[in-house]
Amino acid sequence: MMKVRRYLRGSGRVLAFVFVASVIWLLFDMAALRISINDVNGQLLKERVIRERETLKQQSRVTQLMKRGFKHPVQRVDPAVTQAGKGLLSSGIKLAQVYRQGGEKQDQMLGDKKFNSFQGDHPPKTDKPKSVLPERKDGLQSLTAKQGVPAQKKAVNLDLNGTKLEKSGVIDSSNVVILPAAASNITRAPPGVQEDKHAPLLTSKRGPIQAGDVVQKADSKTNEKVKGETKSATKAMHPVKTSKPLSKDVKGKEVSNKTEEKLVRAIATGDPNAAKETLKPAMKLRAGDDSKDNSTAVRKPGVHKVVSLDATHVPRDANAVGQFGQAALVSSKEEPEVRKRWDEGHFNVYLSDQIPVDRAIPDTRPDMCAQNLVHDDLPSTSVIFCFVDEVWSTLLRSVHSVLNRSPPHLLKEIILVDDFSTKDNLKEPLDKYMSQFPKVRIIRLKERQGLIRARLAGAAVAKGEVLTFLDSHIECNVGWLEPLLERIYLDRKKVPCPVIEVISDKDMSYMLVDNFQRGIFKWPLVFGWSALPDEYIKKHNMTISDPIRCPVMAGGLFSIDKKYFYELGAYDPGLEVWGGENMEISFKIWMCGGEIEIIPCSRVGHIFRGQNPYKFPKDRQKTVERNLARVAEVWLDEYKDLFYGHGYHHLLDKKVIDIGNLTEQIELRERLKCKSFKWYLETVYPDMDAPLVKAEGLIFNRGLRKCLNLHKGSLFFEICDLSKQSQHFNYTWIRHVRQQDVCVAPQGKGNGFALLLCDNTKAELRWFHKSSNSALGEHLIAEFVSHHMCLEAGPQGDTLRLNPCEPSNAFQKWQFTHYHAQ
Ligand code: UDP
Ligand code: MN
Repeated sequence: MMKVRRYLRGSGRVLAFVFVASVIWLLFDMAALRISINDVNGQLLKERVIRERETLKQQSRVTQLMKRGFKHPVQRVDPAVTQAGKGLLSSGIKLAQVYRQGGEKQDQMLGDKKFNSFQGDHPPKTDKPKSVLPERKDGLQSLTAKQGVPAQKKAVNLDLNGTKLEKSGVIDSSNVVILPAAASNITRAPPGVQEDKHAPLLTSKRGPIQAGDVVQKADSKTNEKVKGETKSATKAMHPVKTSKPLSKDVKGKEVSNKTEEKLVRAIATGDPNAAKETLKPAMKLRAGDDSKDNSTAVRKPGVHKVVSLDATHVPRDANAVGQFGQAALVSSKEEPEVRKRWDEGHFNVYLSDQIPVDRAIPDTRPDMCAQNLVHDDLPSTSVIFCFVDEVWSTLLRSVHSVLNRSPPHLLKEIILVDDFSTKDNLKEPLDKYMSQFPKVRIIRLKERQGLIRARLAGAAVAKGEVLTFLDSHIECNVGWLEPLLERIYLDRKKVPCPVIEVISDKDMSYMLVDNFQRGIFKWPLVFGWSALPDEYIKKHNMTISDPIRCPVMAGGLFSIDKKYFYELGAYDPGLEVWGGENMEISFKIWMCGGEIEIIPCSRVGHIFRGQNPYKFPKDRQKTVERNLARVAEVWLDEYKDLFYGHGYHHLLDKKVIDIGNLTEQIELRERLKCKSFKWYLETVYPDMDAPLVKAEGLIFNRGLRKCLNLHKGSLFFEICDLSKQSQHFNYTWIRHVRQQDVCVAPQGKGNGFALLLCDNTKAELRWFHKSSNSALGEHLIAEFVSHHMCLEAGPQGDTLRLNPCEPSNAFQKWQFTHYHAQ
């Protein structure tokens, strides 16, 4: 002992110090070497991926040209989506089924091809030429660029990947069949729903400036302001912005860049606390700088450049399957296994299981996003994932993507709500796995509640100021969180949604989607994507990173201020399992004072599946229809007829379906003093075509060349006279021929018609009628009288009877003055 002490005295101490220092030096050296090898590997691989994608893209274009007419499901553009029930009338098909858009029966009846036309699960993928896609302007936009690794090309053309897989025959086409949209918005994102070319443009219908437009304009200004340095600082600010002014913060930006690097390192070492600590001094520094700069003594909240944090930036295994979001191929030997496991999640589960749960994906944000400034004091969020029998690898990848790409101080917690899953690995093994992440909490529901009530259960225990709901098969991209929280910070009634990108269900590649897409609905409340009209984009001077007003959210991914969520009455808890809840919350948000936005700088990939992989406790189609009917009854006012009239007439019969008690929902709407659905259509979604009746005006009989007249309780023919109100009738969505409350109803016996009080629930009052000149197109066909009977005028004009339908009989042909829909 004494000897040792002696050595540590005088020159011995110096020697010991030199020895320890050399060992430390050596260790540092080795570590540096390893990092640089990793970097080089990563860089090489990224370059290879980019090259491969470029080649594939070229091939893809050629393949597409060759396969004229072929469209990847995500690019499908099919007018059928906008024309439910139209043009499908044929003798062999039951009318009631035709009008009931989608459904399994119809599926079988019409074949899968037909169904694809109603359906689509993804937002449209981009197929624009490379030059149209954003190019990076400098090397400082993200950590990737900053560290000298070439920025990955953002143009990721995935068709090709899909095509490749199909060619190699990995997936049996029967496995990828997409079910009908109807029952309804199968995965809430029919891809092919694009702008109806014939629909009036946003501006043409309602004059030059609309209330909604003003808000949009103001919003884009707000956003410009957030961008700070790139846009003029003299622009007028949005009212909600004035209380939270932004300042240019050059120092802040420098700090921000360094902070990002530190954060990545801290998170990569798996120490979220270290990450949190790393951020703290930086934040303080920025705040201090701000107050010093501020000579007027009004303290401005600090801002910083969006943290492009990505702990997977240098992946552990750069050569792993699916790394960097690239398409993965499966050999033909593995096909049976792929097929076997497909149904576990209705995507390529076999492949997913081979891809690292923390894989890197390309930063697909528009260039300017990484330069945007956001406030230092953004609210924290609880991220809520609900799942039922989710595939292990996708669930983990979802969670890791949040942990790895969210600034730790903004991520309060991740709540996993297990909606009574049956898979064993989602029980103890999941508990065990997640126990290594202190921020992850799992709550288990004691019985199957469905997505809506599962989300409510998650929200009920959430501690963050903001709730962020995500599906359990997603991958959050770099910088996804702050842009969402920033919008809520600016206005708590804003409900921001990320751009939902596509993770291929076949090859698990991460795909970029088109710009300027917003969520919309078509009748009968079918969700879809639609590009903003060019005129609108020009008029509002929009850039690809500006928030986009969104009439309907896709549903799976959004952030909302927690208090505001409850002020809105959260979700209608009477909605079952899945479906319609995105409509409900969207109408509620807009009509009761909020706004839904898509934030192009926030991007999250999602696996769109052709089918729900989990069981519905009751019939799937009936469940979704019932949910939609609840939404229609509470929110659609007189427009609910359009919903029922697009294939859901059967829901009007209360004997067929019990949609449950709506008192609370109706009271909520009154209490919140929400605006009308008419207001919503005019202000939020003015390009939606929503005529309240299918046809109106005089009813002209072609054979007789006279019009029907209803006067003092009797119906007779007269010379047509537009000025006479007694000759005016409506043909409604419920298929009534109606004047005020009186319906001209078909009768099997006697006169052939009766004048009855209209009642939407009574099917026997309905007539089929179209404006087209197809066979029986102009006839009034009694819907519930057997053997297709048609309304026929007597040749003298003194009788009106039901006779067997004859296509060419002019006395059976009726014409309304105006047709608003077929
Ligand atoms: N989900 C749930 N309970 C249900 C149905 C769905 O927890 O009864 C979860 C599901 O696991 C997923 C989310 O809700 O994380 C959305 O469902 P899905 O992905 O099937 O909807 P889609 O994306 O197809 O619209
Ligand atoms: Mn989903």
